[in-house]
Amino acid sequence: DKPLIEIKQLEKYYPIKKGIISRTVGHVKAVDGLNFEIYPGETLALVGESGCGKSTTGRSIVKLDEPTGGQIIFNGRDLSSLNGADLRKARLDLQIIFQDPYSSLNPRKRIGDLLAEALLAHKLASKEEAVKKVDDMLEIVGLTKSHKNRYPHEFSGGQRQRIGIARALILEPKLIVCDEPVSALDVSIQAQILNLLKDLQKKFRLTYLFIAHGLGAVKYISDRIAVMYLGKIVEIGKTEDIFKNPKHPYTQALLNAYPIPNPHFRNRERIVLAGDVPSPANPPKGCSFHTRCPIAKDICRQQTPELLGGSQSIACHFPLN
Ligand code: SF4
Ligand code: MG
Repeated sequence: DKPLIEIKQLEKYYPIKKGIISRTVGHVKAVDGLNFEIYPGETLALVGESGCGKSTTGRSIVKLDEPTGGQIIFNGRDLSSLNGADLRKARLDLQIIFQDPYSSLNPRKRIGDLLAEALLAHKLASKEEAVKKVDDMLEIVGLTKSHKNRYPHEFSGGQRQRIGIARALILEPKLIVCDEPVSALDVSIQAQILNLLKDLQKKFRLTYLFIAHGLGAVKYISDRIAVMYLGKIVEIGKTEDIFKNPKHPYTQALLNAYPIPNPHFRNRERIVLAGDVPSPANPPKGCSFHTRCPIAKDICRQQTPELLGGSQSIACHFPLN
């Protein structure tokens, strides 16, 4: 299989301005040279603490953010080279659902209108067809036709996430960026939404980039996991391998934060995260994790480790095994 999407050297830098003439004195490297691909029908999880650049990556993919460097190749074509009808098509194929769908749902519009909006704006359906599609879609996501006459505030968090999913899905996308879609929900509701996402993936052969700050939900939904730290991927591999045998100290620390004890760690030194994430405006030299890494050595403070390896790649001078 060819990848559906390839991310190459993706960068998003924000200038840091100082003084009354707004001189640029440096850059925040929110995303700093990311490389990964996602295959059709696959779920790749992008995991890391807040501020590591995962949302920016997701937003770049759906063109809500403009990267400052690198390429996003979708279906074999560079997104930045598309315009006109090709660009409109790509934008429909690439949808996003958010942590808080409420903030993206206009409170003064009925659900039916919110769902039909994009269909009509893009002339993908007549009015009658749109009504039919909205009815079908509400049922597909576990709501009912009659819900279309209600307003966003009349729904619970879980139902609102179903509406967010319906709004993305109605455009028949190929890839959906799921930006922490269950983080704000009660644990019991989280499982329902994850199940729904899994069912929809099978039914419509969807590809997901699933963004999360922890590894909990990710174990259940993802095929592969990419762990990010300060704008870079530090480890990427199959979900099973990452859980069984995390090789980057940061991945191990994230797994230790996961409430279910991992028997695999019994004979191992537990790595617990100390301190805060350094400012991305002033990342540590060398391996950017060295300020929090319990096994850091001199070379770590000087030399940035490259992401190396085969199906499980690690950016660390002293990977664990
Ligand atoms: Fe820790 Fe060094 Fe590996 Fe960075 S390169 S994670 S500081 S051991
Ligand atoms: Mg975020």
